[in-house]
Amino acid sequence: MRRPIYAAAMHRTLADDLSRLPELLQSARDFAAGEVDGLDGRPVAHPGKVPDPEPLPAEGHGAQGALSRFGERWAPGFSGSAGPRYLGFVTGGATPASLTGDWLTGAYDQNVSGGGGSSASALERETVGWLRELFGLGEAHSGAFVSGATVSNTVGLAIAREWLGERLGVSVSREGAAALGPVDVLSGSAHSSVTKALSVLGIGRDRLRTVPVLPGNREAVDVERLAAALEALDGRPAIVVANAGTVNTVDFDDLRAIAALKERYDFWLHVDAAFGGFAALSPSYAHLVDGLDAADSVCVDLHKWLNVPYDAAVQFTRRRDLQVRVFHNESPYLGLPTGDPDFLHLTPENSRRLRALPAWFSLMAYGREGHREIVERNIALARLLGERITDVPELRLLAPVRLNVVCFTLADEPTRERVHALAAAVAASGEAYVTPTVYAGTQGLRAAFSNWRTTKADTERVFSVLRSAALTVSPRSGNPC
Ligand SMILES: *Cc1c(COP(=O)(O)O)cnc(C)c1O
Repeated sequence: MRRPIYAAAMHRTLADDLSRLPELLQSARDFAAGEVDGLDGRPVAHPGKVPDPEPLPAEGHGAQGALSRFGERWAPGFSGSAGPRYLGFVTGGATPASLTGDWLTGAYDQNVSGGGGSSASALERETVGWLRELFGLGEAHSGAFVSGATVSNTVGLAIAREWLGERLGVSVSREGAAALGPVDVLSGSAHSSVTKALSVLGIGRDRLRTVPVLPGNREAVDVERLAAALEALDGRPAIVVANAGTVNTVDFDDLRAIAALKERYDFWLHVDAAFGGFAALSPSYAHLVDGLDAADSVCVDLHKWLNVPYDAAVQFTRRRDLQVRVFHNESPYLGLPTGDPDFLHLTPENSRRLRALPAWFSLMAYGREGHREIVERNIALARLLGERITDVPELRLLAPVRLNVVCFTLADEPTRERVHALAAAVAASGEAYVTPTVYAGTQGLRAAFSNWRTTKADTERVFSVLRSAALTVSPRSGNPC
């Protein structure tokens, strides 16, 4: 029989778990250690068979029971995406220190919306300050943690939208995006998340106008064509999205030249430096992000090349006043916050987890030099794979390896079927994972290096499986597709 509600006793299993909490955390630690240690041996990608659904438990199995059921039913189907040979998309892993920070984020369960009797907000501010320095930005930029580069781009473009209102004498945060009339957004090779952001912001996906890129296998915007497009606006203020690291070939817009156009034209400069921003860490590649500091808003992802667990990115802007106008969590008693606003006035969320802690841990543990080493090793390994691919007659590079991504295809008749079959064969080997793309109208594959664990030996293993797979799907081997 059910106890009457006024008995107010803690549920039996919950009380039991509470009494053995240290023991439970220890077994979770042991389980995680086994999984992370086995990353090298598990299949890099999983074929995707998922367990049959189970009903919602009525009484529950306790944390230990949940852990064993998870271990049996779900863990075997998880990918090795945190491991060294998962080269799909741009997928970072989690450094040991960042994983520690992530666990503690859950353990402390701070709500970093405002002060709330905790120093956690100050820790986020310290981390944002370190990141600003890491990416070569000055004091004029302030920032906050968000869940990923898509949200970082969205926040940057929301501030841009408010700025357009300021230029046109309307308040978008009060009157809505319609008060602006049609908005012009110009970019060379914008990431798909930019059009998504434009849709969310009520600017509209179709308002993104693609400016031609430089000739000769480039994805960087042609700055003269950009100037011409701005000229044609006849003084109307616009938004320019510059790209620092395109996903296919990691090309970089000339940020300095674009920023210089501000002397002649009225535009907000947003830079999507989701992973390309990490070029700033290496003296050999930092020139690629020269001029980043001139941006009005900047997006950098952290769960990619900083190698912290999902979900983490940072957004920076020079116009925190406009950011507060957009994201201000209005209360009937208080006006606009002044000074150092609480984070709930800066990002889409009100309640927020302490996303900064994993990044804080990794930066504290490895410093600028440790993270520079990850970036430079990944770049060197991408170049190595690029060289190896050049030596295989069945394969060819679609673009030079500019940074950490190798974009390549089959040398002969790279149909969609064949290229996808190549990706599938690589995935089925369990040895590596690469993702299909279309580059300049040609079907291709991308191998993106951004994991702290990846070694030369891993790269040779990736190459070896790629070469065998290419031999089986290439039309030279009589494959009919
Ligand atoms: C990955 C990426 C994004 C989106 O990042 P999410 O973290 O997946 O939201 C945006 N821009 C660029 C250039 C990217 O590489």
